[in-house]
Amino acid sequence: MGRRYRRLVSDVRCFGCGALVADVGGPVHAYMLAAPGCWAVYGALLEWRVSLVGPEGVTTSQQMIDAYAAQHATNDDRRNRQSVAVHLMSLCASLERGIPGIRLRHLIGTWTHRDYPSLLPLPAAYEVTVRDVAAAAPEARAEAVLAWAGASWSAWSGHQNQVRRWLDHALAAEGRRPGG
Ligand SMILES: [Zn+2]
Repeated sequence: MGRRYRRLVSDVRCFGCGALVADVGGPVHAYMLAAPGCWAVYGALLEWRVSLVGPEGVTTSQQMIDAYAAQHATNDDRRNRQSVAVHLMSLCASLERGIPGIRLRHLIGTWTHRDYPSLLPLPAAYEVTVRDVAAAAPEARAEAVLAWAGASWSAWSGHQNQVRRWLDHALAAEGRRPGG
């Protein structure tokens, strides 16, 4: 019977991360396509993100960017393929190698100078999405971001070895750079 009393704004599942978000119009990222309602949830978190300071804060901030990008492999555009690849490399570096966000910010810029293939098949689902992070209380949010990052990385288990090879190659190249 409740169906007669429809909510004014219905929900839609984001075709990137699968989060249930408001079915609204609005801006989206240029190539990292998402439901506008999903992009809006992420955008609303940015105010909290700028409050993240210090080495741990920067790591959390980077994990946010990486997790969102890794969950929005939504088209075959070269920039989207590159975004998914380098942000998965960054998640791997952060979660498995303990490389701090401050260093990753610098490194990612050096990883984008090449073309990356599409990683197919895509993950079927993500256990934690941007919605869970938005729903967390501010004091619990950094922990929610870590869970989001972990869920994003583990969902790509079928491609983790490929990502680790890219990361190893990139870190070795960084080590050979004069003064690097
Ligand atoms: Zn989404």
